[in-house]
Amino acid sequence: MEASLPRDECVAVHEAGHAVAMALSGTSIKHIIVYVDKLLSGAVVPSPQQAPVRKEFSGARLARNMVDAYAGGAAELRFTPYWFETAAVDLYGVRQLGRRLARSSGVAEDSYLRLAWEETCRMFLDERVWAATLQIAKDLWRQPYPNSGKRTMAGSRVQRLVHQHLPNGWDWPAMFEIPVAG
Ligand SMILES: [Zn+2]
Repeated sequence: MEASLPRDECVAVHEAGHAVAMALSGTSIKHIIVYVDKLLSGAVVPSPQQAPVRKEFSGARLARNMVDAYAGGAAELRFTPYWFETAAVDLYGVRQLGRRLARSSGVAEDSYLRLAWEETCRMFLDERVWAATLQIAKDLWRQPYPNSGKRTMAGSRVQRLVHQHLPNGWDWPAMFEIPVAG
């Protein structure tokens, strides 16, 4: 862990982590939302008009989505151990994706869980990924929240900040590759 952070700032780091992974995995983001007044929770909301993924490429898509789901915790763990108190939703999501992937590929679910977590760790040990995550989190927690008790960031801004730090995107290993439909 680095320095400890107030809890609401950890929520911002957590959601920023999800958002950066989603931007790098090619998931279109509508916005990030962090609730600061009551639940100390948040979400990264994907755009509703996600392009349908062709079936033969869906395995790689699901594997990237596992990294998306792990990413909040991987980012947050740099500051706090809190994630383990609230990890159930993210871990349930990862497990469901792993199960679907295992069903369609015949490879054991646990292999995907391990590979996706390894890839998530590799991602958040990359200084460029970390810089983008921290910048998004800082933007979120520095916003004033006079009455609403929530802070938001548009998906277009997330994309812009991630692109600044990683103009060539993420170098995905083969099992996470999604061939470009030609
Ligand atoms: Zn999460």
